Amino acid sequence: MIPPGETIGILGGGQLGRMLAMAAARLGYRVHIFAPEPDSIAADVAAQFTCAHWDDAAAMAAFAADCAVVTYEFENVPVAPLAALGGVALLPNARALEVAQDRLNEKRFVTELGGHPAPFAAVDTAEDLSQALDTIGSPGILKTRRDGYDGKGQWRIMADHDADGVVLTGQALVYEGFIHFTAEFSVILARGQDGTIVFWDSAENVHKGGILDRSTVPAGPDVTAQVPAARGLAAKVAEALDYVGVLTLEFFATADGPVFNEMAPRVHNSGHWTIEGALTSQFENHIRAICGLPLGDPALAAKGVEMWNLIGDEARDWGPILSDPRNHLHLYGKAAARPGRKMGHVTRLTL
Ligand code: AMP
Repeated sequence: MIPPGETIGILGGGQLGRMLAMAAARLGYRVHIFAPEPDSIAADVAAQFTCAHWDDAAAMAAFAADCAVVTYEFENVPVAPLAALGGVALLPNARALEVAQDRLNEKRFVTELGGHPAPFAAVDTAEDLSQALDTIGSPGILKTRRDGYDGKGQWRIMADHDADGVVLTGQALVYEGFIHFTAEFSVILARGQDGTIVFWDSAENVHKGGILDRSTVPAGPDVTAQVPAARGLAAKVAEALDYVGVLTLEFFATADGPVFNEMAPRVHNSGHWTIEGALTSQFENHIRAICGLPLGDPALAAKGVEMWNLIGDEARDWGPILSDPRNHLHLYGKAAARPGRKMGHVTRLTL
């Protein structure tokens, strides 16, 4: 058990790190951020900041020497440099990172555990793509195996001839069949060091342009009927990885049951509603789990909760948002409001 007062290391310096750091601070921990970008919004609320490249082994070792435990806030942290952490525990473990940072690996992994992703095929060459179109058909989506997020690194192929325009640059890709879903939802769980698992209510998620727009709890009946099966898969994933911390799986609700989309070995945008909307937030339970503390109750704190993202210039509307006293405004402190950039979110409880 890592008692309050100790230092928690977080790899990554974005808004998830920021909200984790705030939850850690509330429990009396110090936070040390490691991130390559100098303008880290997580470092703005942390005690210590190491700004260094991922493969700066000396900086990584010095960071580890200051930390009682290390966690990460995004899944694209390269795994090999983490050897420089030495004996300091990395939670969730590096295996979870390896599986989740590669779309092909994660689809294979959940398939072995009995999950159902969209039909998929690895695509490295033009030949692979034409074979994938033969077996899976169109429409479908070609995605980069690594480093894609918020719909980036994706090409929709509505008909076979669309594939003619796709220029393969040698990047490893995966082609997946298009799923006709009635709704999208996520399962977010926290697993403690003793194997205890708790689940938050599943939010129904609406995306716009590949980016999460809105999460609503409780979800509609199409989703709630599929939550038990989806939770079963998420628990299997957590157990197979000997996972400690918060884990997210995203699903499509379809007439044939839940179709696995992707997993994130971390707190998730579709769980931001838990800060005000649950008795214990995803951020707090992640900190509790990695420190070996008992997990808090994830139960709903209201009849319903709505969370919507503030993307790009939408964050400029903080004045009108605050003029409604029931809105909880979260701004991440990012300097530049680029289009498509997550700048903050708003949560609203139905009492
Ligand atoms: P992803 O980054 O893979 O989560 O994709 C972003 C969003 O694109 C998803 O939340 C869906 O709305 C949509 N999407 C991704 N993959 C598929 C698919 N195979 N079929 C239908 N829609 C998809």
